[in-house]
Amino acid sequence: MIDGKATALRLRLQVGAEVSRLVAEHNLQPGLAVVLVGEDPASELYVRNKGRQTVEAGMLSREHKLAATVTEEQLLMLVGQLNDDPMVHGILVQLPLPEHIDEQRVLRTINPAKDVDGFHPVNVGGLATGDPAALAPCTPVGCLLMLIEQFDGDLSGKNAVIIGRSNIVGKPMAQLLLKESSTVTIAHSRTRDLPGICRGADIVVAAVGRPEMVRSDWIKPGAVVIDVGINRIQREGEEKAKLVGDVAFDEVVKVAGAITPVPGGVGPMTIACLLRNTVVAACRQVGVVCELD
Ligand code: NAD
Repeated sequence: MIDGKATALRLRLQVGAEVSRLVAEHNLQPGLAVVLVGEDPASELYVRNKGRQTVEAGMLSREHKLAATVTEEQLLMLVGQLNDDPMVHGILVQLPLPEHIDEQRVLRTINPAKDVDGFHPVNVGGLATGDPAALAPCTPVGCLLMLIEQFDGDLSGKNAVIIGRSNIVGKPMAQLLLKESSTVTIAHSRTRDLPGICRGADIVVAAVGRPEMVRSDWIKPGAVVIDVGINRIQREGEEKAKLVGDVAFDEVVKVAGAITPVPGGVGPMTIACLLRNTVVAACRQVGVVCELD
């Protein structure tokens, strides 16, 4: 089992040490602003965790909570203020946004240098074209770091199948694995014979949002399985709802060489990578060398 919690803790300690150095040597305290629109309980929990871990790493944390009725113009104005604020080095607008707001327009308004989620078209394009200055999305970066550890730093020539083609996970994951010289297949809802395609993979990354879809007979013995999915299910006879991934963990764990659990796998790594992106962004903005970059 790949212990995402422990890997994330190690990364957060590295981030904390780098923040202490930046404060001591350059009087630079990286700052992260998180914008939350509306009252979705899952988003509120993510934002709380992000804020807590930002502070624990010695960074400045700002939370901006806006009512679900906020207008697009008001939200854009806040993003503009954060773009201009020298104390804020990273801006994250928690998705999804209410339907009356154009998500892409909001993401395009964030200064790409402060776009620690890596969703601005400048960063998306930079990742695709190999620009080292691009900030990459946190969830796929977290997955990549765990894969690199599993394969002792060498992913070259590995067959990787990514299930899901979203802008947040699937597509950037493909770019990151291509950069590592893996052979990448992106599967999605229209893919034919998904089990057969997965059976050829050394690496399977599942980012679908369908509880326990990936079964043990889809997995080549010894393959590394990264489960990005977060699904809340209510089983018959069980009182409480349970979190499960996109992979049927109990059966796949018997076949896979390594597998991330849900919870405790990809989730904690996502936040740790967000903190790292913020420190990297802060250093670049003030022209200081970053040991995490
Ligand atoms: P999304 O809904 O944007 O994309 C899902 C993708 O799955 C789509 O590209 C679709 O084509 C594909 N898909 C749907 N049904 C399929 C099927 N039957 N077979 C093959 N492919 C199919 O979702 P997303 O934002 O990429 O998130 C995916 C999952 O990852 C969700 O459960 C989400 O909650 C979770 N997630 C977790 C983290 C984390 O930090 N752990 C971060 C982001 C997303």
